[in-house]
Amino acid sequence: MLSHYLTHPISPVRKHSNRDPQKYKLFRLEREFVGTCIYHVVAVEDLQRIADHACREHKVLPPKVTIFRQSGKKPPDGWYLDGTIGLNGAYSAQNTCVLLHELAHHIHSARFPDDTQDHGPMFCRFYADLLDKYRIMPFDCFCLLADRWGVEVA
Ligand SMILES: [Zn+2]
Repeated sequence: MLSHYLTHPISPVRKHSNRDPQKYKLFRLEREFVGTCIYHVVAVEDLQRIADHACREHKVLPPKVTIFRQSGKKPPDGWYLDGTIGLNGAYSAQNTCVLLHELAHHIHSARFPDDTQDHGPMFCRFYADLLDKYRIMPFDCFCLLADRWGVEVA
């Protein structure tokens, strides 16, 4: 299965962010491989439990997990802002994968508040750790794919 992904052609990245140079490469990896929108809906109480557990492990205060509903042309899967995570319940994003992405922002910003790259190598390290810990994808597998998708992991 992994060999399929390592030989499968990847689509070009159409956007670039100077301030956050890995952002769209990581989004491409997630879209093409992690498949953040294919998972079933998880109750907000269970998502909060995962966030609480992960934050205990990382010794940071847990965020508040909330659900919002936004449809339309390009609604966000989720967002992270000042200790609150929002997951889009109207866009198949109320799931563990999207939670772990936003949770990586929370832990990354608490541990490395001066890191200017929102989706940089250190963020990806936390994200890969969480994907592994909660059994979405083994850490080594993420690193292998990240290398091919042009995403650096610290
Ligand atoms: Zn993000």
